[in-house]
Amino acid sequence: MSKKLNIGTLCVQAGYNPGKGEPRQMPIIQSTTFKYETSDQMGRLFDLEDEGYFYTRLQNPTNDKVAAKIAALEGGVGAMLTSSGQAANFFACFNICEAGDHMIATNNIYGGTFNLFGVSFRKLGIDVTFIDCDATDEQIDAAFKPNTKLIFTETIANPGVQVLDIERFAKRAHAHGVPMIIDNTFATPVHCRPIEFGADIVTHSTTKYMDGHGTTVGGVIVDSGNFDWDAHADKFPGLCTPDASYHGIVYTQKFGRAAYITKCVTHLMRDFGAIQAPQNAFYLNLGLQTLHVRMKYLTESALKVATFLKNHPAVAWIHYPDLPGDTEYERARKYLPEGSCGVMAFALKGGRAVDNKFMDSLRLITIETHVADCYSCILHPASHTHRQLSDEQLREAGIAPDLMRLSIGLEDTQDIIEDLTQAIETALK
Ligand SMILES: *Cc1c(COP(=O)(O)O)cnc(C)c1O
Repeated sequence: MSKKLNIGTLCVQAGYNPGKGEPRQMPIIQSTTFKYETSDQMGRLFDLEDEGYFYTRLQNPTNDKVAAKIAALEGGVGAMLTSSGQAANFFACFNICEAGDHMIATNNIYGGTFNLFGVSFRKLGIDVTFIDCDATDEQIDAAFKPNTKLIFTETIANPGVQVLDIERFAKRAHAHGVPMIIDNTFATPVHCRPIEFGADIVTHSTTKYMDGHGTTVGGVIVDSGNFDWDAHADKFPGLCTPDASYHGIVYTQKFGRAAYITKCVTHLMRDFGAIQAPQNAFYLNLGLQTLHVRMKYLTESALKVATFLKNHPAVAWIHYPDLPGDTEYERARKYLPEGSCGVMAFALKGGRAVDNKFMDSLRLITIETHVADCYSCILHPASHTHRQLSDEQLREAGIAPDLMRLSIGLEDTQDIIEDLTQAIETALK
């Protein structure tokens, strides 16, 4: 589909273009395998000499159409759906990082990713250095080692909603000959396309806004095609030297700009199999078809709610990148000119006891570990998702101990504000 189309049109139509008499809505290809007519045809698929489907553990036509839509939204050369956001971030890094290697990540990333890197990657022999999301150039440079393979960041951090200076981090990564991977879950490509600011690989938990209805866990990896792996061939032997498991092909030679994402599919998906079910890809596509409409509505709604909270005398502090005067405001105007997302972080005066009474008194807004879908919901990381951390560790992860994460859904804004009003009144009694 033409690149000139605007994002809303891509949300609805990219990735699938039916011919005469074909279904208007994207069909679900619910089949594990695919038929061939000669032994040679099948053999060529296994040598990566021909393109074609053979087994849904690696690739499925429904998944690929949805992945192509997301690649178009982000402006990448290719994409791969995964069974979850966790699988996406695992594959995105493991595709170019192995035992004995080192990577850098910002410290305010989603708790699940923090644990994936800080605990599981270390068990796999991959060393990780966490740096502050506001680290200076000198501090970023100091984190690099000769065996560093990537920098991992988030556009808008979950749950602290800090906005990353994408261009600056990408520049430091490139100065050291490594790609920047960015998790763009909260912003979505409707509000930020990190590749335009120099990011090389973009990931999502599609479970959040992209699905948007709380139905389907999933993830995606998008390859910009911009990183020159061969220019740093010594760092990336998996992409730039022969792969014995595919008759010695060299990914960069055979697949050019799509080398990274092709290896993700043909190597990692083949070996680890964390594929998204085609049925789930279908649900994800339904979500994507309204993503631009939902992001606009819920970001406008969130700004009204944030303004209400900022002006409420019981509120101790609030962070929302679109609020004038917020620490993130200036940076958000550059990277998120049409608004950030529906998520904000705030605390009431009086600490955890008041916060807890407040949450228990909410009627419309529900307590959930989830975030970023059509239902307004709230979470207190220190009591819930990040319970195992001390106050000191929480602060190191960019999370104030009294922080509540409020995610604005698609309900009527006035009803949300009235629910907050009555719950604050009850909590202060
Ligand atoms: C939820 C989330 C993840 C993990 O995704 P799952 O789909 O739950 O596996 C990763 N990154 C961010 C920013 C998230 O919010």
